[in-house]
Amino acid sequence: MAGILFIISAPSGSGKSTLVSELRKQLSGVDFAVSWTTRTPRGSEENGREYHFTTREEFERMIAEGKFLEYAEVFGHLYGTSCTSLDEARAAGHDLILDIDVQGAAHVRAKMPEAISIFVLPPNPKVLRTRLRNRSRAEGVVNESELYRRLSEASKEIENYRQYGYILVNDILDRAVAQLEAIVLSERFYRNGETIAYRSRRVLEVAAACLQANSQERLKPVLEAFGINGDSSQQQLPFGDEPDDD
Ligand code: ADP
Ligand code: 5GP
Repeated sequence: MAGILFIISAPSGSGKSTLVSELRKQLSGVDFAVSWTTRTPRGSEENGREYHFTTREEFERMIAEGKFLEYAEVFGHLYGTSCTSLDEARAAGHDLILDIDVQGAAHVRAKMPEAISIFVLPPNPKVLRTRLRNRSRAEGVVNESELYRRLSEASKEIENYRQYGYILVNDILDRAVAQLEAIVLSERFYRNGETIAYRSRRVLEVAAACLQANSQERLKPVLEAFGINGDSSQQQLPFGDEPDDD
């Protein structure tokens, strides 16, 4: 059975790593492509688990050798998905999840239009800021300029949501995990004819509701909170000086 390629993108801090890790606890046969990056490890990150950490020199050598399916510069560092990740998942007949930014997603979609793409949105800018700050605190490093950089990129990244087939709003974690699981199960059902043993109709309904085409009403308040589809001057407001929720 051929595996399905899933691309998941989101503004930094939206919770996509958390969602992918929860999904993999629930479902077997889903591999995660460990990317290569030139950024340094954060908190408890381990080489080979969250990322393969490397130097810019080595990364550039790998580019020249054609080792990457895609790569991009994000927040001043290089990030890339190795072709090996895809080859290994294919050989095992597993699905593969790529956690990549909007530029990388566009490259992969151009090469592999059959890929299923999912965009994760935080419910609003204030929650995003709180999550980013809490994560930094938990990692023991609160770098205000890095935090600001990631927040100010968020609205620009969100503007690309239309390029994605499915949209998740990661508000209540359990619900977002269930939606992600439903998307994977329903794609397996449609692509591979895999049976969904129980609650099948419900799973298909949950996934269908996450299709971008069916999400306009649900997304409206979230997009407006990020100043998208509205007055662009509002883009400054969300990250103002209001206190965090914590
Ligand atoms: P990303 O991979 O998108 O950068 P993370 O998965 O690292 O984001 O999540 C950022 C922070 O938000 C982490 O501290 C994580 O525990 C927290 N988080 C993720 N999803 C939720 C959620 N639904 N509710 C509350 N906190 C969340
Ligand atoms: P972080 O530094 O927070 O782990 O990731 C920063 C951004 O880089 C996120 O948007 C993440 O999706 C993206 N990213 C991680 N790995 C890759 C990759 O292999 N390719 C691309 N294009 N982006 C990646």
